[in-house]
Amino acid sequence: MKNISILGSTGSIGVSTLDVAGSNPSMFRVVALSAGKNVSLLKEQIDKFRPKVVSVLDEDGAYRLKEMLDSSPQVKILWGADGYREVASVKEVDMVVSAIVGAAGLLPTMEAIDAGKDIALANKETMVMAGSLVVEKAASKGVTILPVDSEHNAIFQCLAGSRREDVKRIILTASGGPFLYLPVEELSKVKLADALKHPNWEMGKKITIDSASMMNKGLEVIEAKWLFDVDIDKIDVHIHPQSIVHSMVEYIDGSVVAQLGVADMRGPISYALSYPERLSREDHALNLFDVGPLEFIPPDFDKFPNLKLAYVAGRKGGTMPAVLNASNEVAVEAFIAEKIEFMDMTVVVRDTLSSHRQKEISSIGDVLEADRWARDKAAKYIKYQNEK
Ligand code: MG
Repeated sequence: MKNISILGSTGSIGVSTLDVAGSNPSMFRVVALSAGKNVSLLKEQIDKFRPKVVSVLDEDGAYRLKEMLDSSPQVKILWGADGYREVASVKEVDMVVSAIVGAAGLLPTMEAIDAGKDIALANKETMVMAGSLVVEKAASKGVTILPVDSEHNAIFQCLAGSRREDVKRIILTASGGPFLYLPVEELSKVKLADALKHPNWEMGKKITIDSASMMNKGLEVIEAKWLFDVDIDKIDVHIHPQSIVHSMVEYIDGSVVAQLGVADMRGPISYALSYPERLSREDHALNLFDVGPLEFIPPDFDKFPNLKLAYVAGRKGGTMPAVLNASNEVAVEAFIAEKIEFMDMTVVVRDTLSSHRQKEISSIGDVLEADRWARDKAAKYIKYQNEK
């Protein structure tokens, strides 16, 4: 029996994780859950999984949850930073699933590593913003980080049983998103609803927009660099519209190892939760005869300049990836609020990056300072664009 705790239980990954845990009650016990504002969904999860501890964003949410829960008084309800800290570090928990969206996931994940918990990592921002610190802390605490991001989960599987020095390069696959075949001149006219239509994956809003702009793949390149300790120039992106090959590793002898599966996040979640064992999942068999031809296309860096920006920021290192991520979060939020156009997101990120004075990072404080600076700067660029 593995005791798990989920940071971000009401988001897309959190819900899928509970689905996997609920289908395997003899293997997983859900001990703690943290959510943001979706108190009513958290209440349903409490009724079903009976965790010991839960936390929500603020005191008001905690109060509303308490009102709803009079029938199950045994659950401890917390909020804010104290809340996620406890959810991340409950004594009997073996593994913490880090599934909070965006930069907000960094501190709770660090807290869990500090407490010596193994991590199923869905929050890529933790690695993008503070990869060097996370890797260092995980090593010093003897913590295993199992990637939940489907590409990284695939790479983790492709690396099994091999020597790291035999790896020639990592090939991250990308669906190409909804605008893969759209002429570049049309990109400036796309609307929010178009960007929210992902062809293959069901995901939250933020990551769906990032997939349409290819920033998601850019963040994943940086995430892969830290997770697998490879130079960023040994990480390539292949557009693969069918989303069946989840990523590949090429070895020095020319062998390429790929991991294939249906496009369903419960696959990588199951693997991360049950590693090194595998869960039986009869309903998720891949039928290659049904899939048809598999295509691989080089990415168009001119059409999707976000991918290029991510490589540049990743190569420079230091505070640059945190600035890339923060300015992109602000830009995506503004696009979702329909305050800026699709291509403006790239302009905001590019201008914020180019006005940033890069620093090395030696503490989480350095990362948070860069994050704050970039959010301010990006918000100013957006305000300026709107006034033009
Ligand atoms: Mg991914």
